[in-house]
Amino acid sequence: MRKPEKKKRTRSRRRVAPTHHQRLEGGFRALSHGILGCAHKGLLRYDFLQEVCGLVIDFSGCDSVEIWLKERDHLFCGETTRVRKSFRYEVIPPREHALDEHVRSLEKESTVVDLCWAILNGEVGAATPSALGHFKTIWTGDASRGISAQWTLDGRKHTQRIIPTGTCRSVALIPILIEDGVGGVLQLKSNKKDYFTQGEIDLYQDVAQTLGDAFVQRRMGVSLRERVKELRCLYGIVQLATQQGLTLDALLQSIVELLPPAWLYPEATSANIFFDDKVFSSASVHQGRSRQEADIIVNGTPRGKVEVILSAGKPELDEGPFLKEERRLIDTIAGEIGLIIERKMLERERTRLQNQLMHADRLATIGQLAAGVAHELNEPLESILGFSQLLKKSSSMSGQTQKDVDRIIKASLHAREIVRKLVTFARQQAPEKVETNLNTIVEDGLYFLEARCTKVGIRVIRDLSPDLKAIAADPVQLHQAFVNIVVNAIQAMPLGGTMTIRTFADDSYVTLSIEDTGIGMSEDVLKNIFTPFFTTKSAGQGTGLGLSVVHGIISSHGGSIRVESRPGQGSLFEIRIPAFRHRTEQLTTDHDKAAD
Ligand code: ADP
Repeated sequence: MRKPEKKKRTRSRRRVAPTHHQRLEGGFRALSHGILGCAHKGLLRYDFLQEVCGLVIDFSGCDSVEIWLKERDHLFCGETTRVRKSFRYEVIPPREHALDEHVRSLEKESTVVDLCWAILNGEVGAATPSALGHFKTIWTGDASRGISAQWTLDGRKHTQRIIPTGTCRSVALIPILIEDGVGGVLQLKSNKKDYFTQGEIDLYQDVAQTLGDAFVQRRMGVSLRERVKELRCLYGIVQLATQQGLTLDALLQSIVELLPPAWLYPEATSANIFFDDKVFSSASVHQGRSRQEADIIVNGTPRGKVEVILSAGKPELDEGPFLKEERRLIDTIAGEIGLIIERKMLERERTRLQNQLMHADRLATIGQLAAGVAHELNEPLESILGFSQLLKKSSSMSGQTQKDVDRIIKASLHAREIVRKLVTFARQQAPEKVETNLNTIVEDGLYFLEARCTKVGIRVIRDLSPDLKAIAADPVQLHQAFVNIVVNAIQAMPLGGTMTIRTFADDSYVTLSIEDTGIGMSEDVLKNIFTPFFTTKSAGQGTGLGLSVVHGIISSHGGSIRVESRPGQGSLFEIRIPAFRHRTEQLTTDHDKAAD
């Protein structure tokens, strides 16, 4: 319960009407609160100056309010006029403001603008120090009689009467202190004579101090917010990079979407990531006025770039179209993308090698099995063949029986051929290696096959390196491998096409590639082509052992096979075999291997 006498006191206090000065002070306090409120909104400099000029002009009833600011060596000027209610904003970079020029011109024909320049250059403050050691407010109620200003230039004190241009009669130039120095000027102009009182000027000086504090708070708030945005973007990129199962394309698309929100004007910013021949773009696309870019370097090679575009219509920043931090950010992002791509490529390579290993393992197991079966079948097959050949010699057979025996012999020979291929696939026959030139293998193979190609309309292109290095190889086995691949290529081009055969070498390997423009293979077929008995051909056309044999032969030569294929476009088989180096060493080792 409240005490009665307390109530009484409150009531009596309310009855006292505020004095004019108190009302004035209250109004100015409200203005200062409004200015601080703007600082807490985290507005950019342009918007901040516009709002503050608006508040001051509404409060003061002046005809023009100008705020001059010196920040990061740039000069910024925002002006609102009452009649037109328009806002003018100007950024003057250091090279253009040449303060001294303006200060010197004070001695000749000076304007209020020159005076502001001089104040911000510290010249005026030196001659008329206030208690704080800075220039005091310069103001007049009748500008037609001029404003008297004092300053020091080249060590001499000057006094100058300045007659403002235009219709204003009352002018006040009030210092804005920012971090203990004159960082700005608040300029109030009215067309009315004696518009300000000394009391009001004193209160405007307090407002100017609040303005100084507000500027500092705004700057810190904005810069903190921008740093948070940048960190959020970088954190987003790192999170995406660690996400499992995301393809590189999906990753780059997600990254590009993270970029515009990290820039100062997100709604006017768009971004692109160029990587190899692909482009990833943010949802918002703007016609750019200004752009910044950074290269994406992967393993030391530029592979693309990150580009950020700022659309027209945004105020130029004091340090160019983009913040210094943004220039650093785009470099960091491009660097991060480069690292992510390197990691993805490593992962892909690791998966490929793992698959290859698993595949090789599977093939080896099948090979052992096949070799065992082949060995077991070999003897009964030889018996069938031998006895049926004996039978054929007997003259007592009828014509029909004779034909049946021929069929048995043909089938046994076919079965023996399969057994032979299985043994080759299982690498049961060690290659007899001699110094061999792959070009000779190609020419010998084509000697038999080229006519077959011409018959079905296949053009054969030879691109054989004239000074090809030798390899240590079994020419008979390599001939078989070459023929198997070429026959497959011919079968893949029933309506004709082009077969390109190339040989080339680097320091360590000799390569043979056979490319056709045939039917190509689906991914499923491609996965299985080296598996014994895998075939897509009809019974008479294929056994599904051709490429298994090729695989066995190339593996036993320490080489590798790479296959590329696209359905409807063709296939490429590339065989790499180590180049022949030290004849004795290589052949001895192989001999030892064969002996094992
Ligand atoms: P086969 O030729 O007896 O079927 P292979 O082991 O030589 O056995 O080939 C396996 C399968 O690989 C073929 O059935 C075919 O589907 C595919 N293939 C091989 N070479 C080619 C090629 N150049 N173009 C299209 N498919 C091919």
